[in-house]
Amino acid sequence: MLKLKTTVLALAFAGAAAMASSAPALAQDKPTVGISMPTKSSARWIDDGNNMVKVLKERGYNTDLQYAEDDIPNQLSQVENMVTKGAKALVIAAIDGTTLSDVLKQAKAKGITVIAYDRLIRGTPNVDYYATFDNFQVGVLQAESLVQGLGLKDGKGPFNIELFGGSPDDNNAYFFYNGAMSVLQPYIDSKKLVVVSGQMGMDKVATLRWDGATAQARMDNLLSAYYGNKKVNAVLSPYDGLSIGIISSLKGVGYGSADQPMPIISGQDAEVPSIKAMLRGDQYSTIFKDTRDLAKVTADMVDAALAGKQVTVNDTKTYENGSKTVPSFLLKPVVVYKDNWEKTLVDSGYYKKSQFQ
Ligand code: BGC
Repeated sequence: MLKLKTTVLALAFAGAAAMASSAPALAQDKPTVGISMPTKSSARWIDDGNNMVKVLKERGYNTDLQYAEDDIPNQLSQVENMVTKGAKALVIAAIDGTTLSDVLKQAKAKGITVIAYDRLIRGTPNVDYYATFDNFQVGVLQAESLVQGLGLKDGKGPFNIELFGGSPDDNNAYFFYNGAMSVLQPYIDSKKLVVVSGQMGMDKVATLRWDGATAQARMDNLLSAYYGNKKVNAVLSPYDGLSIGIISSLKGVGYGSADQPMPIISGQDAEVPSIKAMLRGDQYSTIFKDTRDLAKVTADMVDAALAGKQVTVNDTKTYENGSKTVPSFLLKPVVVYKDNWEKTLVDSGYYKKSQFQ
């Protein structure tokens, strides 16, 4: 008993001394940050998780990183666990942005800082900040790449196009779609672009859980129902994983040859298999979102919030979540083509050149 007391006292002294001398914080001095990621099925989320852990550890935090494999109850119980185990901040990339209200109420009651990571958490006042990319601009860049690839600005056309949207439970999917349509709609109105299936609007073109196989099946259906004697010239795809499914479907009916070239296809996340698809000429563009920068911005939010300081944001208008407008920091997405991929992705140190050989 006496020994235990002495140890506790010694530790208390050591702690006080460390604070007084403002020595660099050790991991055990700083609280735990819970990091909840949606899935490991896409490389971008693996990078996100790793980068978050790296940056937070460098700053002395403990981390609890969990992946929910796109299963909503799984994510809910992982976040509940983080709250119970005493996390002081939560960084959450939601699978379905509307399913976390109850657990976030508990988090708020415990004074935990909640940061929506990349995807907005909806329908609750208990989300403090949002760190993301300019999601509308992502859609603009995707559509502009189609416009460029088709040569619409040089007066070429008309062209046939089909549209794909992201998961309807992910707020980002609407921003991507609306951003893209802000560029494409004028061409559709002037009949330079023709959506042969007529399928437009997120209620018709969304792809639940961003699932590549679902996109492939829809593309199969579109091709057989509407393209018997027509060719598709462009496909708006909001995510590399969907583009892979769309490309397989197209290859299945003979696209990708000299007399039946691949349509111009967009993507997002600059994932390695899709950069390879771009180099092969199967995909035309993708969008790079540097997850190292997102991790840094998010860690800055954690630091400031836990120290009771002002959190830096650069947007206080855009992200209304159905309950409040969430103060946000928006990073800039970058469009990647065959001619700038190396500079953007390899020279920046994000990937190694050997990953593409
Ligand atoms: C992210 C995208 C990603 C998509 C599918 C979105 O919320 O912002 O970068 O492509 O989810 O994982």
